Amino acid sequence: MALKPRILIVEDESGIADTLQYVLSTDGFAPVWASTAEDAIAQFSAELPALAVLDVGLPDLNGFELFRRLQALPGGNQVPMLFLTARSDEIDRVVGLELGADDYIAKPFSPRELVARVRTILRRSARPVATAAPAVTAPANTPAIWALDEERRQIRFYGKLLELSRYEYGVLRLLVQKPGRVFTRDELLLQVWGGDNDSFDRTVDAHIKTLRAKLKLVAPGHDPIRTLRGSGYALSEELPGTL
Ligand code: CA
Repeated sequence: MALKPRILIVEDESGIADTLQYVLSTDGFAPVWASTAEDAIAQFSAELPALAVLDVGLPDLNGFELFRRLQALPGGNQVPMLFLTARSDEIDRVVGLELGADDYIAKPFSPRELVARVRTILRRSARPVATAAPAVTAPANTPAIWALDEERRQIRFYGKLLELSRYEYGVLRLLVQKPGRVFTRDELLLQVWGGDNDSFDRTVDAHIKTLRAKLKLVAPGHDPIRTLRGSGYALSEELPGTL
């Protein structure tokens, strides 16, 4: 039986920590909670987690400093880390990612979104399991899942250039810029079609359909566009890092 991945949650607000522990454990993880940086260092040293979620605003040390200290511990730089912060400040995001954190989530956040990010990070950072066969590792130049070139109005999906119509490009561009964000049909109509009165909901649906067909050619078996019944569309955050 596979061991449940241990997720260290460093968060001083017990309400948030409880919610995170609940969603992570129902999703097959083994969460452990530390309410202070000191406690986090102790827990991290006792047993390396598969991933750590660090609140930036902790009572004894800020999350960035804690990140540095955890990274300096034996094996610490192998553990993916994700920052949580109450501040919507762009600076936090930049600092966190420049330090080398794997991701960043601004509060308030959806617990489901956090779990999805945790899964994505773990998948991305998973090291090949040693087998008799030569280990298969992704080449260093593995293309990003999405690459948006606004000047050329081009989008690449797993490195492959998509041939998109003007409106397909417009829709996909919005989705790619904000993975996970739900766009309603009305928003898409307004932003891509300029809200002209001849456009209808089914215009959006028709373009999503053709987009999906094109994406499917690149990544059979994956659907990068999620349909949220009654509300709209969002880019999936659950795609594998490589195909
Ligand atoms: Ca806090």
